[in-house]
Amino acid sequence: MEPDEAIGDDGIQERLREVQARIRAAVERAQRPPGSVALLAVSKTHGAEAVRAAYAAGHRAFGESYVQEAIEKIALLADLTDIEWHFIGRIQANKTRQIAARFDWVHGLSDPTHARRLSEQRPTDLPPLKVCIQVNVSGENTKGGVEPSEVAALIAACEALPRLDVCGLMTLPAPAEDEDAQRTPFRALRLLRDRLATPSRPLACLSMGMSDDLEAAILEGATLVRVGTAVFGPRPYNVG
Ligand SMILES: *Cc1c(COP(=O)(O)O)cnc(C)c1O
Repeated sequence: MEPDEAIGDDGIQERLREVQARIRAAVERAQRPPGSVALLAVSKTHGAEAVRAAYAAGHRAFGESYVQEAIEKIALLADLTDIEWHFIGRIQANKTRQIAARFDWVHGLSDPTHARRLSEQRPTDLPPLKVCIQVNVSGENTKGGVEPSEVAALIAACEALPRLDVCGLMTLPAPAEDEDAQRTPFRALRLLRDRLATPSRPLACLSMGMSDDLEAAILEGATLVRVGTAVFGPRPYNVG
């Protein structure tokens, strides 16, 4: 598909450009280097055609939350060999084999048993699975994550696993009223990362910020924002 076939893509290419402009503006406001924040386009609940439209616009990194849906979509898009797939959903122990085989990244790792299974099940012909540890920084979210005091131990456990590559931290705070309130949990994640980072383990990835709070996240140091609605439009349905 050519980019000028934009009609019929449901406005995805235009929204992608708008989101990229929002990211650039926030990076500038934060006085951070251009290009220092990656966009993960969260395609969960949207069809393979939506991913194709974003791909045609040059986008390559996509996030999925539901294993079964993702596996089907990945199969339909097997011809797009340079896509990078990120699993951002809740991990279930009986799905780790599929996650380890199909995805390049896992955000939201918060359980040492899942970590061990993902490492054991990572196919040998693929590079180590990149993971971010999910942290419950605000203490208020219901979407999982380890307590800040438990992060160091989970990182150590992951580092002992040969087929995992610990890249950083992730958080999914509850929605907040205004930018100041949005920034609080993101700042906490960054400070935690700064405390835990070492030269050999920089924890360079800070996976934080979504459609409604990506500016706040970038102001606090996000290196990857996970954006669904602002790229693909409202989700046709919500699962789980
Ligand atoms: C769905 C989802 C997103 C994207 O949310 P939007 O508000 O649609 O941008 C980001 N991160 C996670 C973990 C999600 O589940």
